[in-house]
Amino acid sequence: MHDGMPLSPRAVVDAGLCIGCGACAAYPGSGEVDMELDRYGLYKPAGSAAWLSTPSAEFSRLCPFSPAASSEEELASSRFPQALHDDPLLGRYEALYVGHVEEGRYRQDGSSGGLATWLATELLRVREVDRVVHVVETREPEGTLFRYTISDDESDVRSGAKSRYYPVELSGVLRRIRAEPGRYAVVGIPCMVKTVQLVCQRDEIVRERVRYCIGLVCGHMKSTRFTESFARQSDVKRDAICGVDYRVKRPERPASWYRVGFRLRGGGERQRDWWHMLEGDWGAGFFQSPACDFCDDVMAELADACVGDAWQEPYSSDGRGTNIAVVRSRRIMKLLQDAAEAGRISLTGVDSKFAVSTQAAAFRHRREGLAYRLKKFPPPLALKKRVADISSLSPRRRAIYRLRRHISRWSHRVFCFSQLAHLGFVYVVWARTAASLYAGVTYSRGAPGKIADRIFRGTRA
Ligand SMILES: Cc1cc2nc3c(=O)[nH]c(=O)nc-3n(C[C@H](O)[C@H](O)[C@H](O)COP(=O)(O)OP(=O)(O)OC[C@H]3O[C@@H](n4cnc5c(N)ncnc54)[C@H](O)[C@@H]3O)c2cc1C
Ligand code: SF4
Ligand code: SF4
Repeated sequence: MHDGMPLSPRAVVDAGLCIGCGACAAYPGSGEVDMELDRYGLYKPAGSAAWLSTPSAEFSRLCPFSPAASSEEELASSRFPQALHDDPLLGRYEALYVGHVEEGRYRQDGSSGGLATWLATELLRVREVDRVVHVVETREPEGTLFRYTISDDESDVRSGAKSRYYPVELSGVLRRIRAEPGRYAVVGIPCMVKTVQLVCQRDEIVRERVRYCIGLVCGHMKSTRFTESFARQSDVKRDAICGVDYRVKRPERPASWYRVGFRLRGGGERQRDWWHMLEGDWGAGFFQSPACDFCDDVMAELADACVGDAWQEPYSSDGRGTNIAVVRSRRIMKLLQDAAEAGRISLTGVDSKFAVSTQAAAFRHRREGLAYRLKKFPPPLALKKRVADISSLSPRRRAIYRLRRHISRWSHRVFCFSQLAHLGFVYVVWARTAASLYAGVTYSRGAPGKIADRIFRGTRA
């Protein structure tokens, strides 16, 4: 609902607030609604014109970006009412750790310390759940590269390890959870965990079956074009790709030096460092989903446990990968503590200041930056978000937030145009200019940096 009026899916899509979760498509009564990639490579619901345009109170309470849906804070207070701590950035929690998996190959095979996959398999092993909802490679020569699936076998869950900076949606697995009895654990980024919790709120069957959610810390989501552009720059064609590893592990290098690897259908692999890519600076926001501009949940506040990368020394220099973990459920905390005592995983308790510092850039962008965007680029639907005071925001930081927004918006359009017009160089020239402008304003790099330093009188970003 918006101003007391129910919303339609089209209202959310047109407001640029659809994250493509798939909840509306899978909801009973929605009929034959699919989730399809739009021209920018982002998922959107694709139902009949009548379905898309029909406002409904049910949809208004189900969609994670609808102003009428319960907020993260409301949902968290009913999920974790007795949590020991309630932090404005981390959410409700029992304990905070840095750590990694010691046993097996979880750490080598994971993007970070391997705890996300380990937790999912541990829940299966101790029979807390029968099935895990997670993301795997499709391995098809065309179509999407990744999708959500459901696995009931530990090795299948392990084969889904690694972060995919690629859109996925939940409609298929939500339908299956409803149709196939069992106890489920769902792995997902914060907005997908919120979606699952909103579905649970309204659907008794799903509520009874989804026993745990394992969250991933989230900076933002990329469209499929991000991977397409990386592939092009690596001289790899879509039909030659049988798998993508966005973060090839090199234990001898700092964890933050990302390297992408394309596994090729005929055998072999092509690898390149992210810093050689036009879009290699994550913070510049190339191909970011527009909805992410209005998200305030970094740490999956509704998940039983949330894991991310410990981007803080000495961990960020350790190429083997180290997790930050926010534990919200007591059962998960007991599983982790027992495993740590048995030497199966390694955990060190940290305080909230340290945990926040591992995601300092994401929190700045999603509190201070969010306040700025809500003020300067308010979406058509009035959102209630948790924001920081920006009364003393420096002109340089304002410029950074503006640049990021323009890069994320225009990367979709320019890439789309250059593809349709068969003028690939248009995107390359535009992206190179945008990236160097961003590096100049943000890090004082190169000639744009000198100009930015002069304009902003030497103030640092
Ligand atoms: C889009 C995105 C943005 C992220 N942004 C940040 C960030 O800003 N800061 C940070 O610290 N961490 C971020 N992460 C999380 C980080 O990349 C690692 O996933 C996390 O540290 C867990 O590492 P791990 O080794 O424990 O997980 P792994 O053992 O590698 O397991 C990863 C699990 O995540 C699932 N998964 C992979 N991709 C997706 C996806 N797109 N959607 C849902 N589930 C998926 C896999 O199926 C697997 O179960 C992000 C992840 C994603 C997908
Ligand atoms: S965010 Fe999810 S529920 Fe909302 S319109 Fe998009 S797909 Fe549907
Ligand atoms: S930033 Fe928020 S909305 Fe965007 S993908 Fe991450 S959790 Fe979802």
